Amino acid sequence: MAHTRSIIIAGNWKMNYGPRRASSFAQEIVPELLNILHQHAQIVSVLCPPAISLSAVHNVLEVHAHQRLALGAQNMYFEEQGAYTGEISPVMVHELCRYVILGHSERRTYFGESDELVNKKTLAALKHGLRPIVCVGENLQQYESGQTEQVIRTQVAGSLAGLPADKVSELVIAYEPVWAIGTGKAATPEIACSVIGLIRLLYGNMYGQEAAEALHILYGGSVTSANIADFVSNSDIDGALVGGASLKADFIELTRKAAEAR
Ligand code: PEP
Repeated sequence: MAHTRSIIIAGNWKMNYGPRRASSFAQEIVPELLNILHQHAQIVSVLCPPAISLSAVHNVLEVHAHQRLALGAQNMYFEEQGAYTGEISPVMVHELCRYVILGHSERRTYFGESDELVNKKTLAALKHGLRPIVCVGENLQQYESGQTEQVIRTQVAGSLAGLPADKVSELVIAYEPVWAIGTGKAATPEIACSVIGLIRLLYGNMYGQEAAEALHILYGGSVTSANIADFVSNSDIDGALVGGASLKADFIELTRKAAEAR
């Protein structure tokens, strides 16, 4: 398959960096990221700070206003407004962001998010002009008992049902095996490629071949500057969702290595 899709390197800061620290960290890394973006037209960089820090990071990005340096939220609710204490809506997210991570395994595990809820959020994100990064992946017990394929089939069918035809190419999926997140034990590129191939096949069955070829599918799970090239040198892996390594200057090196790997 031709390398026509861009490479997305998204940093999920999780519950780290309040507005002050987020702003200073963004000021530290953004000039370096911009240098890489200027040299490599296929790279898209997405920063996903906690909701309370989105505005602070937005202020830093706004100064540079680069199309391929984008802001993302880590979660949102699907309703547009109302009595949902503690939540943020797609309308609010869209004021500042282009991307939103949905269905991260930490949300599924600690906050009980189901495929049905992730599906509602995904539809709401697309409706409001956001690019959802929808996370799927099996846990350790499922991996060890050979259930990966079944888990992925269920999550893809459930989380991605009923997408509008004109928005199917806006979607980004992150394959994140839960056993690889924050453990330092990344999946092998072979495992990532094989599950990503399955996801692309399933998406093609749902929305057609063209949509499947336009779909960005990232790998996530203990990605660092030391292993990113092993993943993105495969044409089926369209980038990475990065947790721990996105909190450090290593994110710059990681982004550079991803750019140079293609
Ligand atoms: C993540 O949080 O999505 C993630 C992949 O984390 P880490 O890179 O730390 O494994």
